[in-house]
Formats: sequence, structure tokens, C-alpha cells
Amino acid sequence: MEGRGLKILVHVCCAPCFLAVERHLEGTRLRPVLYFHNPNIHPYREYERRLRALREYAETRGLPLEVGGYAYVDFLRRALVDPRRPARCRVCYQMRLQAASCQAVSAGAEYFTSTLLASPYQDHEMVRRLGEETARQSGTAWYYADFRQHWSWAQGRARQLGMYRQGYCGCIFSEEERYAR
Ligand code: SF4
Repeated sequence: MEGRGLKILVHVCCAPCFLAVERHLEGTRLRPVLYFHNPNIHPYREYERRLRALREYAETRGLPLEVGGYAYVDFLRRALVDPRRPARCRVCYQMRLQAASCQAVSAGAEYFTSTLLASPYQDHEMVRRLGEETARQSGTAWYYADFRQHWSWAQGRARQLGMYRQGYCGCIFSEEERYAR
């Protein structure tokens, strides 16, 4: 899917994943507007660290960045209904994609997408399906592409830039899964 001079709202989970999406968009002429909305990231200092990395990068590139609210209590309440994968990830994706589609409307963007499509650690098919579903429900347009093709390049670029790269997905459950091994 390509467009000329059209705005695309990019939900961003972290700066390194955005590099992969940015690389893809360079070939499409879509203009990204960044949206950091991740109430799943715990603890708060980790949330801040990821946001700071994105803010710094957005400033160097002159990209607009909006930041959503940090509704971590809401996330936990919903995730605790069934804190196992894939149930909690479904809730997590839904919350972020729904917020992104609303933000796309307020930003006057023609499309919305998510950096969640860039990571081989996410459930790619679930993100794709939920993006389509959210778009249908909200009357917005979901932009799908398999950004994972740029994942390795983006990781290398993030290292070169000295960009913060997190060690776990985001929520407190994933932190335990990562470090309890
Ligand atoms: S593992 Fe990642 S995608 Fe799944 S609920 Fe936790 S933060 Fe969200």
C-alpha cells in the first residue's frame, strides 16, 4: 500500500522497533506521526526510559510525537482476568491499537499502524487481525506491512546510535518470564 504525502499515525512501542517502520515508510512517502501509548510497560522507570529514547530520536529526525496516558492500573485490571499468554497479550494489543486508531482520527491521519508488526517476538498474526478489527469498528484505515523484514537492520542501527534497547517485552509478567530463567 502506498500513498503520497499522506499522514500515518504510528503507534510506537519503542524506538528500536520504530527504526524498522521508518525504513519501510521511506519507500512509501507516507509521513509518520508518532504515538507512544504503552500502559503495559512496567515499572514506571522502564516506561520513562523507553519514552526518553523515542523522544530523543524523534527530535533528531524532526518527527512529531504524541504521548498517551500511562493507564497501567487499567492495563493490569484487564490483564489479570487471565494473565497467561496469549490472553493477556490480546488485551495488551487491543488497548494500544484502539487508542492508536482514536489518535489517528484526532491527528487527521489517513492510516494507522503499529511497530508491534516489526518485532519477531510479538504475535504478528494477532496484531494484524486486531488492527483490521479495530479499523472496522472505528472507521479508520489500518496500514499493514510485515516490518519484520527490517528488524535485524533496525537492531544494528539502534546499536550504532547507542539507543536504549530493552531486555523484555514490557509488562511485569514478561519481566518475570525473562529474568526468572
Ligand atoms: S508480553 Fe508483551 S505483548 Fe504480552 S502482555 Fe506483556 S507487554 Fe503486552
